[in-house]
Amino acid sequence: MSSPRRERYDDVVVGAGTAGLAAALLLARFGRSVLLLDRAPAPGGALRRFRRGGAAFDTGFHFTGSIQPGELFDHLLAVLGIRGELELVPFDPEAGHRFRFAEADVELELPFGLDRCRDRWQAQFPQEREALNWYFDALRSIAKRTMGMEVGRPLTTFGMLDEDFVSLRSVLDARFRDPVLKGAIGAFAMCYGSPPASVSFAAHARVAFGFHQSGGTIAGGGDALADALARAAERAGVEIGCSCGLESFAPGADRQAGAATLSNGATVAFERCLLTIDPFAILDLLDPLGLTPAFRERVQAFEPSVGFFAAYGIVDGPEPAGFGRSVYSEFAGTDFDAMMDPAYPGDRPLVLIEVPGDPAAGTPPSVSALELSFAQDVAAWAGTRRGRRPPEYRAYKQTRAAAIARRLAGRAPYADRIRWVDTASMLTFRDYQHSRSGSAYGIMLKTGQYGLFGRLPVRNCYAAGQSALLPGVLGAMMSGLFVVRQMVGKEIFDEATAGAR
Ligand SMILES: Cc1cc2nc3c(=O)[nH]c(=O)nc-3n(C[C@H](O)[C@H](O)[C@H](O)COP(=O)(O)OP(=O)(O)OC[C@H]3O[C@@H](n4cnc5c(N)ncnc54)[C@H](O)[C@@H]3O)c2cc1C
Repeated sequence: MSSPRRERYDDVVVGAGTAGLAAALLLARFGRSVLLLDRAPAPGGALRRFRRGGAAFDTGFHFTGSIQPGELFDHLLAVLGIRGELELVPFDPEAGHRFRFAEADVELELPFGLDRCRDRWQAQFPQEREALNWYFDALRSIAKRTMGMEVGRPLTTFGMLDEDFVSLRSVLDARFRDPVLKGAIGAFAMCYGSPPASVSFAAHARVAFGFHQSGGTIAGGGDALADALARAAERAGVEIGCSCGLESFAPGADRQAGAATLSNGATVAFERCLLTIDPFAILDLLDPLGLTPAFRERVQAFEPSVGFFAAYGIVDGPEPAGFGRSVYSEFAGTDFDAMMDPAYPGDRPLVLIEVPGDPAAGTPPSVSALELSFAQDVAAWAGTRRGRRPPEYRAYKQTRAAAIARRLAGRAPYADRIRWVDTASMLTFRDYQHSRSGSAYGIMLKTGQYGLFGRLPVRNCYAAGQSALLPGVLGAMMSGLFVVRQMVGKEIFDEATAGAR
């Protein structure tokens, strides 16, 4: 973007990922003039795909939950007015996720539907019958009491529940005995990035509920969602400025932010600014405007979630039957607190996502293998930028990719036909996604801790994004909607979106 078309906007939205795009397009639909800024050359944030050897690989959107008609993901797309533009592709309802616990030598399938999964697991763990009844009831109850999670119910306030103050670890240890079943429940940590001792039972339940309802992806992957959101935003009149970051605010009157300075040197005035970026970056931007020590300490206490090391491969030859119908995860042990400790000596948790080819488009089938990673893994090169890293860093990536290929050799029937074409470390994600640490889900979800959401102490600034309410693409989208509800007024928002319920 050379310079913004106007000198002043009603709303400036910073970060054109899922949350920023969703919020910007709704604000514009409510008649506001909106400038949406992103440092990246195209809108979409972590939704964006990249291409290698004719295949398209997703970075930050492989699958989501609640995709059946009337469930939350589907519903949010309807509220945003883009449901008709996307083809949702459900995974195998009998085994949408497959977990292998290597040391215990047990495989577990996760069928969709809370009752169906409960029944399947009860058959496999009969001694845990009562605990499983309790667990699935608790998931339902927490989803019902969480604003916005039950489609069709009027929205209230996103408040904390008692279960927000209890860790998943304490629930697992109090209710369950079988280590493999504890592992299967703990495995959802891969979808929110925080170990059971940190995450509250409520935060776990909000994510697990959706993945138990249903799961799948979008035809065309993250690009399809990013493009649909960006088109809808432009139709609504949002001005999207890419390759342009928000660098700083001038002090405004009465604990407000004044004009913003952009990375291209332009300044822009606004009534309100919505920040859908990393909370630590929000702190850096707002700190010069005067924050209370308590707010500063609160944000400084956040910790990034875990991240991933990714290896991307093309599957040569014919596409295997059932390819892309479920996600396969392999765990050395069953204790996710141990496995999510950077010092864990065994193999790290690994998730394999299959993407069917598209013969019409000439796209071959491909796989993305995501192995748990920590900032410590790449700390030695944290000061380097992409394209300028030393040979030791390349050796690290090669060694890790080779180890992933070896792990999959005995597991995927087509493993000897995978041609590995690229890798990404947490530094790769950090630099492409302009985040602070390359973590997968923003900040770690910690028992009793609030993310940054809604109106901030600098009164004309607001926060949303994956670190606000719930992680992942669904959580980011939800935060975008709810922050707009706060910004335009709850009654006006609820009336305008009632038809989509
Ligand atoms: C490897 C990996 C795999 C994942 N897999 C899944 C998955 O399968 N399913 C799922 O639901 N979630 C997944 N996630 C998480 C998911 O991608 C994120 O939760 C979600 O995309 C976050 O959306 P967001 O809008 O909050 O942030 P982002 O998409 O990160 O958008 C923030 C934007 O802000 C921009 N920005 C930052 N600073 C500035 C600034 N100062 N000025 C202007 N722009 C700025 C950035 O360039 C970025 O585009 C994965 C993440 C990773 C890393």
